Amino acid sequence: MRKPFAITLDPGSSLANHTGSWRTLRPVYVDRLPPCNHACPAGENIQAWLFHAESGNYEAAWRQLTEDNPLPAVMGRVCYHPCESACNRAQLDTAVGINSVERFLGDEAIRRGWTFAPPPKASGKRVLIVGAGPSGLSAAYHLARLGHAVSIHEAGPVAGGMMRFGIPKYRLPRDVLEAEVRRILELGVELKQNAKVDHILETMRSGAFDAAFLAVGAHIGKRTYIPAGSSARILDAVSVLRSMEGEDKPLKYPDMFTASRLALLNKIDLAPHCDVDLDLYEANLKRVNPLIEVIRISARTGEGMTRWLAWLQAEAQAKRIKAAAE
Ligand SMILES: Cc1cc2nc3c(=O)[nH]c(=O)nc-3n(C[C@H](O)[C@H](O)[C@H](O)COP(=O)(O)OP(=O)(O)OC[C@H]3O[C@@H](n4cnc5c(N)ncnc54)[C@H](O)[C@@H]3O)c2cc1C
Ligand code: SF4
Repeated sequence: MRKPFAITLDPGSSLANHTGSWRTLRPVYVDRLPPCNHACPAGENIQAWLFHAESGNYEAAWRQLTEDNPLPAVMGRVCYHPCESACNRAQLDTAVGINSVERFLGDEAIRRGWTFAPPPKASGKRVLIVGAGPSGLSAAYHLARLGHAVSIHEAGPVAGGMMRFGIPKYRLPRDVLEAEVRRILELGVELKQNAKVDHILETMRSGAFDAAFLAVGAHIGKRTYIPAGSSARILDAVSVLRSMEGEDKPLKYPDMFTASRLALLNKIDLAPHCDVDLDLYEANLKRVNPLIEVIRISARTGEGMTRWLAWLQAEAQAKRIKAAAE
């Protein structure tokens, strides 16, 4: 059966009314997850804090942001900002500069000394967190705000995890990292340094913990098989970065560069988002050691692999000739 269109006299059209077009549907406001928010690994309510920032209420923006992520000054510097890759404004001109606004808010909070509101009441529960990297620190923050008593046991001498031992100072100044860690600890979170947890159940029992959160990270560098035998002195990126953080003074690196004959630069796989000037880096290496051969490589794109293998084969051949002559 053909139903009438609204109250029109003609069931097929409203034209018969001669009163213009008639609206039968009303727009409905829907609050859906925008692409930036969906792409943010920290799950930030980006549209909400951008709204406050745009109205000039930076503290409200920072408070909204830190509802989800307690490390905005850190993330505003080191996050690969997938939110901006997802931003559909880019289809019109450019993506909204979310990461820069986040950094500004994080820095503003440090400058003005904004602190987190303490929890309304204690829950009476104790939580053990193993590891003081971003994961452990964020968990401590959220748990403390729910009123739980939190204790972080960190194997190393300082908090920060890979934020400290993986990301160099020029990208993440340590005073910024320390200010954001301190603010979390000021919520009443206990941090035990040089406190490696070897047996989780024993540690929980001895500390009368109700729950534990393991945030131990992934600290072992991925090694590549390089057929250069014992002649190759190979350091993985994680150990090099760790030693640069002061655990092991980087005195050996000038020696390493002056004594080496080959340097492999791998930006594509290791630091794709870093603004590293490889030409400058190569020029500096050559200045320290004019004889060094520099090859840019990437396992992902295959760049430099043939040249590197040819170098290794030539090395092995030279060794064989030398051994035969002796
Ligand atoms: C070289 C490098 C560069 C990176 N650059 C970036 C970047 O630019 N941007 C970005 O977003 N991410 C970057 N990342 C990734 C980022 O650092 C990690 O994803 C992040 O640190 C993981 O956090 P986490 O807390 O899980 O672990 P981690 O940061 O590894 O922290 C784990 C902590 O647990 C402690 N621990 C381990 N075992 C024990 C134990 N038994 N008892 C007590 N404590 C223990 C460790 O000492 C450490 O402090 C980088 C990583 C590396 C390696
Ligand atoms: S830059 Fe900030 S908002 Fe964007 S994805 Fe990273 S943490 Fe989320």
